[in-house]
Amino acid sequence: MIYPWQAPVFRQLAGERRHLPQALLLHGPQGLGKTEFARHLAQALLCESPLAEGAPCNACPACNWFAAGNHPDFRHLRPESDAAEAEGGEASPRKGSAQIGVDAVRDLAGFTTTSTHRAGLRVVLIEPAEALNVHAANALLKTLEEPRPGSLFLLVSHAPARLPATIRSRCRSVSFHPPQTSEARDWLAQSGVQHPELFLALAGGAPLEAQRLARQDNGQRPEFLRRLADPSQSLVQVSEFVARLPVPEWLGWLQRWAHDLVAQKLAGEARYHVDFQDVAARVAARADLYDLLAWERTLREARRLEHHPLNPRLLAESLLAPLFAMR
Ligand SMILES: [Zn+2]
Repeated sequence: MIYPWQAPVFRQLAGERRHLPQALLLHGPQGLGKTEFARHLAQALLCESPLAEGAPCNACPACNWFAAGNHPDFRHLRPESDAAEAEGGEASPRKGSAQIGVDAVRDLAGFTTTSTHRAGLRVVLIEPAEALNVHAANALLKTLEEPRPGSLFLLVSHAPARLPATIRSRCRSVSFHPPQTSEARDWLAQSGVQHPELFLALAGGAPLEAQRLARQDNGQRPEFLRRLADPSQSLVQVSEFVARLPVPEWLGWLQRWAHDLVAQKLAGEARYHVDFQDVAARVAARADLYDLLAWERTLREARRLEHHPLNPRLLAESLLAPLFAMR
């Protein structure tokens, strides 16, 4: 399936069917459904009796194989950890490598050089493409340098700048943007999300991320922000409260809070925690812009540590301390 905001780009690419370049780089922020789009496009291109506007029929042998995950002309490369998670494994701690290794790319050689099983196209989906390690990226580059007719590579990336320029230059760039707020809000409301505007703001406009945040919402965020801004709460008290929550969750809130405080300083408006706009204005008024920017940078760097087993209480204290120093 594709999402409503993807319909125009799908129509365009499906319309080019047999004239697509060898590789497409589908890129844009996380939470827009790029991978689902890539899978849908792959299925549509492999479908043996596509419907109007190129949509897959969901009935032919190719569509049935695709749905069952065993279409012989389709390969899906992703990090082992993502595959384990998708197959119902534990999300945390992550199992397997977070990278796509060179062997996975080398295995494609046989796939792209033999004739196709259904006399059509071969499609390789790589996501996220930035997970390719150096050797894997080099191997992929070699493959892209010797185009095979009938092969299409779909690279999905949230961070295309992290891909080698040599690979980027061999792909047609297809960029994904957050949809209009009204479209995203309507979609979220239809999918049963309460307060869609709030979650959409928290997700920076990305509808699937908003949906994820809404589903995972444990009601602790307002309490967290209240405590942060409450002068009677000490650093130790807030850290104790925070340490009971999952690190990626509160660190995500905190990073957005820092961004909001900076945005209040610069533009007089918070972007993410829109329900705490007034509080952000009050806190930002007392803080120094350069201190806030330095703190925001520290939090960004800390996100790399969020899946590592650190003492949550110490992590909270060290990351909250700069904010308390600005009070
Ligand atoms: Zn079909």
